[in-house]
Amino acid sequence: MQIYKVGGAVRDRLLGRPVSDIDWLVVGATVEQMQAQGFRPVGADFPVFLHPKTGEEYALARTERKSGRGYGGFTFHASPDVTLEEDLIRRDLTINAMAEDEQGTLYDPYHGKRDLDERILRHVSPAFAEDPLRVLRVARFAARYAPLGFKVAEETLGLMRQIAESGELQALTAERSWKEIERALMEPEPQVFIEVLRSCGGLMELLPELAHGADTLPALHQAAKLQQPLPVRWACLLRGLQPAAIKALNQRLKAPRECQELAALVGEFAERADHALALEPASLLEMLQKFDVYRRPQRFEDFIAACEMATLGSGYPQGEYLRGAAEAARAVDVKPLLESGLTGQGLGEALKAERLKALEAYKSA
Ligand code: ATP
Ligand code: MG
Repeated sequence: MQIYKVGGAVRDRLLGRPVSDIDWLVVGATVEQMQAQGFRPVGADFPVFLHPKTGEEYALARTERKSGRGYGGFTFHASPDVTLEEDLIRRDLTINAMAEDEQGTLYDPYHGKRDLDERILRHVSPAFAEDPLRVLRVARFAARYAPLGFKVAEETLGLMRQIAESGELQALTAERSWKEIERALMEPEPQVFIEVLRSCGGLMELLPELAHGADTLPALHQAAKLQQPLPVRWACLLRGLQPAAIKALNQRLKAPRECQELAALVGEFAERADHALALEPASLLEMLQKFDVYRRPQRFEDFIAACEMATLGSGYPQGEYLRGAAEAARAVDVKPLLESGLTGQGLGEALKAERLKALEAYKSA
């Protein structure tokens, strides 16, 4: 059997980028041979194994055939006679279809190195169109390598358009779509992900809520430049949508709770935050209560960050003001109220009244 390093590890080494995980390809071996050498199978019907010591993934060379709709619709054929070239041709992009043997020799039948040098994201074969997830993957790689000058090849964009038009993107599960979206949002130029999806018609299929409406891409880019966490980036992207659209998008994609919450809060309160200095204390308090700034201080910080991103670095004094207000409301001591015998609803209302007083003092200070 021959063992090759494949995929991202080869690509990123050639780009001079850090390699995080290594994918290995095994040619000329059977499942039984792998197991005899101590490799542990990953799944029941998937020819992928984990190395007994390193835990890295070793996949048997395979070919695949489309047999149905969506990502699940594939039949694999893994056997010792599947060649390296046959395995590599089923991969998405030429830059992902290179292999390296144990001596460090590069195998590059589909000219990935040339495309790497020319900064082109190009599909390997027409079979690209068989897996709709590749639309998302290509857009994600475009977002990742945009700082290096990578562009999607015209013909590849054409295939992506074809996939989008076929409606197959809708057959992707929420989990698979979200995983790509999440990774794309954490790349250095996440707005490129959205732009590429838009240019191939995938945005309308996958995130139709974002297809029209305010341009939030500069804010998203700003959030990436300042290395903001995922929920902030997601909330920046969704800002300006109607609450119902935010909810629909969040639920359809099964976004994690923090992302859902922050996007909804930004949708509801960002405008109010922008006018923070002019707000009546009662309105300010309502907002702080709604955020539960007493128990969820970090969420409020993330909210302020998301609002600030929209100013693209020109400054957001409202943020300082809101922080101060939260501080003032938090500083109200519940102890004297408890000691005066208040409980339940009465206690809650007295506490609110005290906080309102604190905010009035804060505003006039
Ligand atoms: P990353 O740096 O994000 O891990 P990667 O290229 O290693 O990038 P993986 O998802 O780890 O991406 O996949 C490893 C390799 O498997 C890819 O380089 C590609 O050759 C192939 N591959 C993965 N998913 C697909 C897919 N949906 N269609 C075609 N080939 C794929
Ligand atoms: Mg990888």
